[in-house]
Amino acid sequence: MVDFILKTLDLSKNFGGITAINNANVEIPYKGVTGIIGPNGAGKTTFFNLLSGFLRPTSGKIIFENRDITNLKPHKIARAGLSRSFQIANLFPNMTIEETVLIPLLSSSNANYKSIKALRKRTYHLLQSIELEQRKNTLVKDLTQGELKILDLIRAVSSEPKLLLLDEPFAGLGHQTIIQLTKIIAELRKKTTVIIIEHKLRELLNLVDRIIVVNFGVIIADDLPEQIIKNQDVIDSYLGKEELK
Ligand code: ATP
Repeated sequence: MVDFILKTLDLSKNFGGITAINNANVEIPYKGVTGIIGPNGAGKTTFFNLLSGFLRPTSGKIIFENRDITNLKPHKIARAGLSRSFQIANLFPNMTIEETVLIPLLSSSNANYKSIKALRKRTYHLLQSIELEQRKNTLVKDLTQGELKILDLIRAVSSEPKLLLLDEPFAGLGHQTIIQLTKIIAELRKKTTVIIIEHKLRELLNLVDRIIVVNFGVIIADDLPEQIIKNQDVIDSYLGKEELK
């Protein structure tokens, strides 16, 4: 029997007359990387906002590790082990690189890293993994777009989440930074279940075990990547318009 880290049951979200997510039934098994693709406005970010508690669903349920988290506040969901990054890195410009990673660690409930000294050490190792440890006192506002994205990713994984949601991690990044991020995500998957929304399909295909396709709030396909790129509904609604050269 497959054990699922996350399930949504008839999950829906309406904004006035718009149904951004329409009766989504998704099952995400432990481990592995799932991609979510679909046209602009399909409802992908709304789906992440629902999972992470930033939006309340209109109806339906979200079950995380067999626990109903549907109406929990974002910080409670984060504490339960579900972490996310944002399309545009949502970091405090006047914090240092070190503070950006250390502060969420201090507030996380991870029992393995209780003393400040241990947390600082962990922060150092995390920054070392992205080659930012020498610049730990640099302010966030002085980082490039690529550095911001990588720092945001490390912040999201610092508390060792069980499930990590990445919203367009490659958007706005150059080729080298995408390669760097791909390596970090490939490393992460050894410990963490990952879901990635991404428009850059070729890069996504390098990472995912399966892909969920959303169109007008409806999940129109959920399959292996090699099946998805052959799926006529997916080609008609999305892939036909994307570059997959
Ligand atoms: P993109 O790929 O462009 O990021 P998306 O698939 O993430 O798009 P969403 O941002 O989830 O799409 O938007 C889905 C629909 O819900 C759109 O029609 C959008 O305009 C609408 N929507 C999203 N958030 C809100 C909101 N807070 N209030 C009203 N409508 C919203």
